[in-house]
Amino acid sequence: MQEHETFAVKARTILPLADERPARGSQLFARLKGIDNAVLLIHAGKVVALGKARDVSLPNDCPLTDLGPVCVIPGTINAHCHLDLSYLESKTCWGQGFTPWLQSLIPLLPRGQVEQKTLEDAVRRACQGLADCGTAHLGNIAGSADHLLALTDQQAEKEGLGISHFCECFGFTESEMAADNPWPPFVRRDLQEQPNLATHSALAGHALYSTSAHKLVQAKKFCRKHSRIFSIHLAESPEETEMLTQGRGRLFEIFRQSVLPTNWLAPGKRPLAYACALDLMDAETLAVHGVQLDRQEAQVMAALGASLCLCPRSNHHLNVGAIEVKTLIAENLLLCLGTDGLTSNTDLDVCQEAVFLHEQQGIPGEALIRMLTVNAARALKLGKYVGRLVPGSPGRFCILPQSLRF
Ligand SMILES: [Zn+2]
Repeated sequence: MQEHETFAVKARTILPLADERPARGSQLFARLKGIDNAVLLIHAGKVVALGKARDVSLPNDCPLTDLGPVCVIPGTINAHCHLDLSYLESKTCWGQGFTPWLQSLIPLLPRGQVEQKTLEDAVRRACQGLADCGTAHLGNIAGSADHLLALTDQQAEKEGLGISHFCECFGFTESEMAADNPWPPFVRRDLQEQPNLATHSALAGHALYSTSAHKLVQAKKFCRKHSRIFSIHLAESPEETEMLTQGRGRLFEIFRQSVLPTNWLAPGKRPLAYACALDLMDAETLAVHGVQLDRQEAQVMAALGASLCLCPRSNHHLNVGAIEVKTLIAENLLLCLGTDGLTSNTDLDVCQEAVFLHEQQGIPGEALIRMLTVNAARALKLGKYVGRLVPGSPGRFCILPQSLRF
């Protein structure tokens, strides 16, 4: 997209979602109002007008592309992804559970041995793919290598993608988290050299089993103080529950060898109960996965106002189980969707998560469209323009997959 480019598209139906608010429970199924025979006018990367074709006046020489009998929705929001890990596409073990996947991933992680160009090329391709499938915004987990924060940010900007970075705290070395500068060491230089990165960066916890309680609590406190969303992988695998409740199992064995301090004690709580005990869960927390949550835990999360990002294809590929999404909806949880990274997914098209949930669990298109847009905008705290098509919104739109039409 050229910076000052002006263009228009025409479609049989456009769903602007202009008046839609984040939706829970039965609100997710309410009818969505569309504009038939509609035109969307975009200038300099922003929506400037939208309406019935006869009502939108186009500037002279403005190119108009007729997309045909399709339904256009706002550019989608992929609420959880790991751009850093894009270079590991197709290199990890799938189908045998979480721990074998992690065991295949860990030896590939020391990025000091990976050429910068390999990383850059993979991030560039991933961002192009995100733009091509109509993504407007991305919740990106910034992993553990120097300069990847700036690199991913730059590539996202180049592709016209909005991006929220979650700089991930990991491990039990508490001395590396300074009280006056809690950012993980691998992002500090980028943040110092490019202070504007901090405006759309927050802290995240990797997971309850991999990161010390002190780091998680400090990260959440920092996010609260600076009004940022805090994110954490939560209740992803049965091994996580086993490790936290009983201090044993395959996942525990891996972490005992390399990450856990010798005096580590299992908290003796299920993941959500432990997260609540650490005061990590509130309306500005985005938990990711939640596959192992039971109905009562979904109720607790909903009451706390926390959001949950579902990554159903990643869960399917790793074979960690599948959550009954209708139960989460019935308990009024705020839901959005993410692809997770290319280490556990075939692509970063978040629409395909929606298609998967429609096909596997019969979740209707209206609910999934809201999860892809207005709900994710709320979960990432993106304001009133992203996830909608109104003047001022990002000039990014998505053609709704055929199977999600209603
Ligand atoms: Zn993830």
